[in-house]
Amino acid sequence: MNIVILLGAPGSGKGTVAGRLAAEHSNLKHVSSGDLLRGAVAKGTAAGKEAGAYMEAGKLVPDALIATMIKDVVAETTGDVTMLLDGFPRNLAQAKILDEMGAPVTHAVLIDVPDDIIQDRIAGRRTCPKCKAGYHVKNLPPKVDGICDVCGTALTIRKDDNPDTVKDRLVVYHQQTEPLIAYYRDKGILRTVDGTTGVDNVATAFLEAI
Ligand code: AMP
Repeated sequence: MNIVILLGAPGSGKGTVAGRLAAEHSNLKHVSSGDLLRGAVAKGTAAGKEAGAYMEAGKLVPDALIATMIKDVVAETTGDVTMLLDGFPRNLAQAKILDEMGAPVTHAVLIDVPDDIIQDRIAGRRTCPKCKAGYHVKNLPPKVDGICDVCGTALTIRKDDNPDTVKDRLVVYHQQTEPLIAYYRDKGILRTVDGTTGVDNVATAFLEAI
């Protein structure tokens, strides 16, 4: 098993690209820290109860809480698999936790999208609550309005995708997550992909980068 980290602002397309690549390539596994947390919130686990308030406010959940979840997924992933790790690490402390786990990180790919485009993307974002497929009302609409192409479930808007929370999430990204770009550049494993060229092109560029 090896790990490729996806870096990029909320709404940069990390989940869409990783989800698509994992659906197309059986050796790629998409692991989203946000999905793990939303799953825990939905199930009402102790971790989910603790995480919910941070998530609704657009803040990062405590490092130890998410690191425990990631550690479990890393431990259970074996064989000839590349894990596309989306949303973790989110700050330098988490990057160091990942290093201390001995996780075999081969690349960190930054999906680069300017903030003004991000606001518009998140405003149109729709998600399938069941299979987690992602859509956008303009850029990536489902075949039937409001319905997931994959499993037929009614699409929803994430609670933390409202404009005020998005602003807070972008501040958190610039302050806490962006320093990871230099961290992985210094390790010589940073790759950058232009995230504004459409899902197909971004997915192709991503594969080329790794
Ligand atoms: P995402 O789906 O990646 O946009 O994550 C949604 C929310 O989950 C974030 O705004 C945070 O509240 C929380 N979250 C996801 N990943 C992490 C992480 N690695 N560290 C802390 N909080 C996280």
